[in-house]
Amino acid sequence: AKRQGRNGYHFYTREMNSHSYRYLVLENALAKALSRDQLEIHYQPQICLASGRVRGMEALLRWEHPQEGMLPPAQFIPIAEETGLIEGLGAWVMQRVCRDLQQLEAGGLRPEWVAVNLSPRQFRQADLVQTYRDILRQGDIPPQWIELELTESTLMQDVDAAVNSLRQLHHLGFRLAVDDFGTGYSSLSHLKNFPIHTLKVDRTFVQDAPEDANDAAIVTAIVAMAKGLGLEVIAEGVETSEQLAFVKGLDCGLVQGFYYARPAPLETLIPLLETPPRN
Ligand code: C2E
Ligand code: CA
Ligand code: CA
Ligand code: CA
Repeated sequence: AKRQGRNGYHFYTREMNSHSYRYLVLENALAKALSRDQLEIHYQPQICLASGRVRGMEALLRWEHPQEGMLPPAQFIPIAEETGLIEGLGAWVMQRVCRDLQQLEAGGLRPEWVAVNLSPRQFRQADLVQTYRDILRQGDIPPQWIELELTESTLMQDVDAAVNSLRQLHHLGFRLAVDDFGTGYSSLSHLKNFPIHTLKVDRTFVQDAPEDANDAAIVTAIVAMAKGLGLEVIAEGVETSEQLAFVKGLDCGLVQGFYYARPAPLETLIPLLETPPRN
């Protein structure tokens, strides 16, 4: 957001002005949110279609704002990204995930992996690998328990740099996933150079697939390609039984969506982790 015009004048309409005012207020509050214990992680299960088992869980950041209530990431991640606050938030997320993994492991309830999101700015962060390595060592957590999710568009911003960074994270032992796949205009040839484990089919395709022949063709092709490349594939955003039936028909490995579970505090997911697989 431009805060000052070229000559120091502020040519703002009332609307822009109130937008930037809200931005500044949120930026200020966000800077203090960590130390004021207002951040939380919710988890959403990633379920194996064949067994019904929870194989992974995605960690999703939540901000319990004292006046505004629970704010979704869309309202504050972009601010954190622009201001650089995301680097500290990202480290905190990893610490909290490690703590939760310790607890799950101790209770015999740990899924195979917990997925953690990385924004473009974090992915470019010079000391990212070192920061993550230190956090994992402190928590005594094997990197294999964590899957880092990068969106396809993050990876496409600078493909050579991305391959290099992915290799470092892979070398450290993290699992890697391409998030929102299908929206980022990647040349498919890049995929084979990325040391990834998982493709996540963007929810816009999954949600329209039962009604829209084009979306159906796209989801079908992505699932087939992922299988051909030996990758896990997760259909995101499955909400209805029609969407579920569609991805089941493709033998898509994993699903994540409101149909099975909304993101929720870890405690509320314990029963799902304890439940033996259906069928
Ligand atoms: P994402 O990585 O694509 O995360 C999945 C989003 O889809 C989540 O939104 C989740 O609540 C939502 N979702 C899951 N299943 C369904 C469904 O069936 N229907 C619909 N309509 N939505 C579904 P959320 O939690 O609001 O997060 C939004 C975005 O914020 C994430 O998109 C991710 O890009 C970002 N984000 C969240 N947590 C973090 C974090 O810790 N670090 C970073 N860098 N970004 C994060
Ligand atoms: Ca994600
Ligand atoms: Ca996604
Ligand atoms: Ca998304």
